[in-house]
Amino acid sequence: MNKIPKRFQLLSHTINVEIAGSDSFDSGLAGQAKYMEHKIILKKGAHNGENMETFWHEVLHFLFRHVGVTKQDGGKLSDDEDVVELMGEMMAQITSTMEY
Ligand SMILES: [Zn+2]
Repeated sequence: MNKIPKRFQLLSHTINVEIAGSDSFDSGLAGQAKYMEHKIILKKGAHNGENMETFWHEVLHFLFRHVGVTKQDGGKLSDDEDVVELMGEMMAQITSTMEY
């Protein structure tokens, strides 16, 4: 089982990861990628958002945003929730099954 980090480095920024109660979220949301604040917020509770799938989902929003800016895609990649969700699940699987 992976642990959700408190922060990580991405290009020239430190991205902080916060856990917040449900009053910080619109209904239905499990996490948020705050691009301008270099912050990921996950909804408290492993079944709500405080899990590796949601963590990777929000990380992928950041990654696709950087790729999209470089490729000038107008946010097409980072706003594609289907691709972000699928890749988040795959990243969670990869990182939880890696053997050394
Ligand atoms: Zn999303």
